[in-house]
Amino acid sequence: MTPPPSLAPTFSETAAPVLPIASGDRLTPARSPGPPPNRRGNRPLSFYDLTFEELEAHCAGIGQPAYRAGQIYSWVYKQLTSDYVTMSNLPANLRTELAAALPLSPLTLTRELVTDDARTYKMLYRTFDGQFIETVLMLYRDRATVCVSCQIGCAVGCAFCATGIGGLTRNLSAGEMVAQVVAATRRAKELGRQLTNVVMMGMGEPLQNYAATLKMVAIINDPRGLNMGARRITISTSGVVPRIVALSEEPYQVNLAVSLHAPDDERRDRLVPLNLRYPVAALLAACERYIARTGRRVSFEYAMMKGINDDEATARVLAARLRRMICHVNLIPLNPVDLLPYERPDPAEIARFATILREAGIPTTVRYSRGMEIAAACGQLRAEHAGEPLLVSAATPTSPQ
Ligand code: SAH
Ligand code: SF4
Repeated sequence: MTPPPSLAPTFSETAAPVLPIASGDRLTPARSPGPPPNRRGNRPLSFYDLTFEELEAHCAGIGQPAYRAGQIYSWVYKQLTSDYVTMSNLPANLRTELAAALPLSPLTLTRELVTDDARTYKMLYRTFDGQFIETVLMLYRDRATVCVSCQIGCAVGCAFCATGIGGLTRNLSAGEMVAQVVAATRRAKELGRQLTNVVMMGMGEPLQNYAATLKMVAIINDPRGLNMGARRITISTSGVVPRIVALSEEPYQVNLAVSLHAPDDERRDRLVPLNLRYPVAALLAACERYIARTGRRVSFEYAMMKGINDDEATARVLAARLRRMICHVNLIPLNPVDLLPYERPDPAEIARFATILREAGIPTTVRYSRGMEIAAACGQLRAEHAGEPLLVSAATPTSPQ
């Protein structure tokens, strides 16, 4: 499907050559000879995989005093240093040892695309095993948000989403997610801004990569490091009910966004196949529980598709189902994906739908996706690099209120 002319790509490319995120050690690609010095499963460990306590244990294990972990964490997460060489208060041999054991560049920046009058930056990274992932930095007047990927591909396979088309290749590690946040923090700083929010709305389903996602939250939340408040972190899910329940018991009170897209099982079964396992009633019950346990409002994402889920009757059913919940609805006009048969409704339809929800007392916003044109372009980028069909691209980058 060709986007309407007004949405034609307008990005400019700022970094075509392959550049490392960090100037520190690069990880050895999986196919190169000899194993990396430190591996977990078949994946090399990076610095960003370690919590503060794990770094302390690592330092103790190599005979270093306890205060070293604080020094290194500060260099990496406060000074945003990307190379051990610059850590001037560490002995030279320790710097060399750390560079070999805990490299600082698990991802290699391959391209950066800029759009929306230089307010949206889409980064394409290559992983150690030659895969590509995408991260989006969105600058707003009062905040700067990074949209992070948690998987390469996705197993859920929503009918309208490009990420799910090729299925799941693999989970990202906590370190690969933290590295995206660090790179965005650094990029925002270069642009004179401070990164304020993290949304797990890139490629993949975070609650199907639960342990790594939670570890990433722990690492970026640590006040000795990036100090990203849990309330500034949003986990978006297509509705993995047991994990929503588990999340409500976690110490981190992150924001929960639930991708609903239809208020009834018949349609949601088709749009979000996970609904066959966890139907709408069970999903909404888990959301109620999340609200009760955390006292936090849940956001419902609703991708509006012409003739599919955008009519007035559907708005009324949705309003009835959500009426007693402490929630907020984000209507996201669909970002059309090549070869998928879904279209964006007319603005008037979207406005009418929003009005019905608001009149039923449900706080509702309409959110046009940032960088819509580069979402499409990144599919092309990833295809170029991975030799995959044009269809394989990131989910639409979106952000919460
Ligand atoms: N897997 C998680 C998070 C990543 S997708 C989830 O599904 O919630 C982030 C958001 O982008 C979700 O709300 C998803 O439904 C939405 N999305 C995916 N493809 C889209 C498209 N083509 N147009 C608009 N929103 C889309
Ligand atoms: Fe996966 Fe989310 Fe895309 Fe569905 S919308 S296929 S859950 S990334």
